[in-house]
Amino acid sequence: MTPSPAALFRIALAALALLAATAAGAVEAVAPDPAVPPPVSQGGELPVASDARVVGDGERTRFILDLSTSVEISAFTLADPWRVVVDLPEIDFKLPDDAGLTGRGLVTGWRYGLFARGRSRLVLDAAAPVRIDGAFVLKGGDGAAARLVVDLVRTTPADFEAALQKTALTREASNAVPVTKGDRLVQSGPSRARPLIMLDPGHGGVDAGTIASSGVKEKDVVLTFAFELKKRLEETGKVDVAMTRSDDTFIPLRERVRLAREGAADLFVSIHADSVREDFVRGATVYTLSEKASDRAAEALAVKENAADAVAGLEMEPAEADEVSDILVDLTRRETQTFSLSFANALVGELSNTTRMIRNPHRSAGFWVLRAPDVPSVLLEIGYLSNTQDEKLLTSEDWRNKVADAVGTAVMRFLGPKIAAGQ
Ligand SMILES: [Zn+2]
Repeated sequence: MTPSPAALFRIALAALALLAATAAGAVEAVAPDPAVPPPVSQGGELPVASDARVVGDGERTRFILDLSTSVEISAFTLADPWRVVVDLPEIDFKLPDDAGLTGRGLVTGWRYGLFARGRSRLVLDAAAPVRIDGAFVLKGGDGAAARLVVDLVRTTPADFEAALQKTALTREASNAVPVTKGDRLVQSGPSRARPLIMLDPGHGGVDAGTIASSGVKEKDVVLTFAFELKKRLEETGKVDVAMTRSDDTFIPLRERVRLAREGAADLFVSIHADSVREDFVRGATVYTLSEKASDRAAEALAVKENAADAVAGLEMEPAEADEVSDILVDLTRRETQTFSLSFANALVGELSNTTRMIRNPHRSAGFWVLRAPDVPSVLLEIGYLSNTQDEKLLTSEDWRNKVADAVGTAVMRFLGPKIAAGQ
């Protein structure tokens, strides 16, 4: 029996709450990894958010964000789970490291970050159905600091539902993420001379992914790794490489899949770093798509990764939204799956000679990001940020070079026949 999306969601939330709890232990500031590229907009005249706090109780709660200047905002609620989303122009967040990890009253925790180019977003997790009683920015006098305020009051599930209907249009407009194609796709179209590899660093922006107890974030670790891998692949001179994101921006899962399909990529590699309660678990894992998960851990991971859009305040999409039952699509899917498995084997082969892998390193589950019917896709978890030894490796340049070499070799092995045929 397949659990309903709602049930899966609750599991995802439990997993996320656990992660937040783990991360809440972090108090020490961590020096930023020099290899992690800076966010898109540097300096400039961006409004700065310097501090935030949550006050109130289980009936009325106020969220406050201190800003260097006044900005336009819009706020709305989302169900399953209860969330409040606040959209703002791009903000330079200079908040304390532990900002948002815990909450108060009706707010159990919150996240912030870039949502799309030029747009930032706050997502507050609510403990109960809430109504936005007010969402505004208080201006200070004469260029003084401003204060963003969101007032929430507890409401009934029925009233919450009614408010959702009313804001449905706003939500749709807000969720329509503008995408700049030109800078992500190197080349597209069937006339391409060389195979195209689409690298997909997981998470980004408002969605940090897993956070190690030291404060190291999955979104940064995987982006740095992807850049390293891109460099190696390009050095071969035989392939083109594109990335679904090349900075700290949030990209919805469906957008990642769309980019791979639109570019007619020959291979899609999603890169992640995992975290589990059992902090002794370590090593890399290669995942392919399957309707039925290979094991419980793989299933739990897929639930967690599939919740990325919800973390960033997007509506969950029904899992089967793009499933077309068509004989040609089925045939394509089957052929694609054969290629995905073949690449997964090559990858496990190269990686097991290079780094530690978990037991049964090739696993499978229903990852949404692997659902393109016509692009061979794997999801590589490079290790566990919940394990301190793995964390050390994942943030070390030596290890990164070694493992990027191995993944690069596997990619070239997989594409070998295609490259030979094209010459
Ligand atoms: Zn991830």
